[in-house]
Amino acid sequence: RVAYVNGQYVPHGHATVHIEDRGYQFADGVYEVWSVFDGGMADFDGHMTRLHRSLTELRIDIPMSREALTQVLKETIRRNRVKNGIVYLQVTRGTARRDHPFPPPGTPPSVVVTSRSISPLKTDAIAEKGVAVVTTPDIRWGRCDIKTVGLLPNILAKQIAKDRGAYEAWMVDDMGLVTEGSSTNAWIIDEHGKLRTRDTQANILKGCTRTTLLDILKEEGIELEERAFTVEEAKRAKEAFFTAAGAFVMPAVSIDGVKIGNGKPGPVATRLRELYIERGHRDAI
Ligand code: PLP
Repeated sequence: RVAYVNGQYVPHGHATVHIEDRGYQFADGVYEVWSVFDGGMADFDGHMTRLHRSLTELRIDIPMSREALTQVLKETIRRNRVKNGIVYLQVTRGTARRDHPFPPPGTPPSVVVTSRSISPLKTDAIAEKGVAVVTTPDIRWGRCDIKTVGLLPNILAKQIAKDRGAYEAWMVDDMGLVTEGSSTNAWIIDEHGKLRTRDTQANILKGCTRTTLLDILKEEGIELEERAFTVEEAKRAKEAFFTAAGAFVMPAVSIDGVKIGNGKPGPVATRLRELYIERGHRDAI
């Protein structure tokens, strides 16, 4: 395997950044993950646009042109011979003597790209059974719309899920409303049959998979209510699922041990997963 590190392709095992990289010391950086379908990236523009936004919001310099970055992403996928999997991009504010304020102007951002295969058979097998979700308080900051590498609360949430034998953790705000998953957006079909997901003005990440699903819903004539739901509503839901690059549309069959529907992936989640994957194959570049 190879990784791209600041202008060079290097063996993955020897790919390093400096100990005073601000990503390492301060989590002062952002990232994106694209799903790879047949060697191409899904939701390409969405992730690129969000990357640009994250960098701008944090006042990190744009490290290279969009065209050059696209080339690096494609080349990293190619060199790793990834047909299906993910490509990961991280940009930090660069390397400088440890000091909280931004480093001197002109300090180049660090750019790292890696890519790895994920067997579609494996993820499909997981999706066919559906997964368990647990809930945990959302202890994050007020800018969850920015995709930063500062993921400690997300990691702690995911580990709670793992410790309890679940696959994902849904985080819950002070009002008892689900914000999102540790690395996914959360959806339910509520007891009245309404498809619901939290609106993206409410301090969550605007998922690219979520955005594409909005398109698919329009095409399919499925109504969506962008309104947060409580844990109790989720437990009473007919269906539950979550979305992210890599997971696509993943059915949840229990929440905190409470069975959702008949305890099997619901028809809507299953259908939306198929449609999303179909579109991924079609649109990936
Ligand atoms: N919410 C959080 C907190 C995430 O970390 C992610 C993805 O990493 C998502 C949602 C889903 O976003 P996307 O569909 O763009 O992968």
